[in-house]
Amino acid sequence: MAQTLTIALVAHDARKPDLVSWVRDHESDLSPHSLVATGTTGGLIQAACPSLKIRRMNSGPLGGDQQLGAMIAEGKLDMLFFFTDPMTPLPHDVDVKALTRLSVLYDIPMACNRATAEFLITSRHFVDGYERQPTDATLLAQSVNN
Ligand code: PGA
Repeated sequence: MAQTLTIALVAHDARKPDLVSWVRDHESDLSPHSLVATGTTGGLIQAACPSLKIRRMNSGPLGGDQQLGAMIAEGKLDMLFFFTDPMTPLPHDVDVKALTRLSVLYDIPMACNRATAEFLITSRHFVDGYERQPTDATLLAQSVNN
């Protein structure tokens, strides 16, 4: 059963070429899905893959990572491809940490490098679906909100 996922694409500056190249390799796998990206990453992917429709958020350092985190908290994001830079200190490191933390909390599949991205996109769950199993903290938050 094919499903339409909402997928976020983000890369730090040093990793943008890797992500753009990976997206080009998987353009046909990604195109049926709803794609969202941080500002600069989204612009580069759009230029490299004009056939893809990409909703662009703010640039990461200007709140784009937080916007994606809000989507996770609202149940509006299914998967995150976030190629992070392991070598460079970043001004918005706390935002990156918050986004990755929410991905863990809500059991969002998250790829921080090309190898994991390959495993995710070739997983049977990418086509058949996966029932997320949020942590207890998430379940507790939901019961407070309901
Ligand atoms: P950018 O943001 O795509 O706007 O560069 C990514 C990030 O650094 O979080």
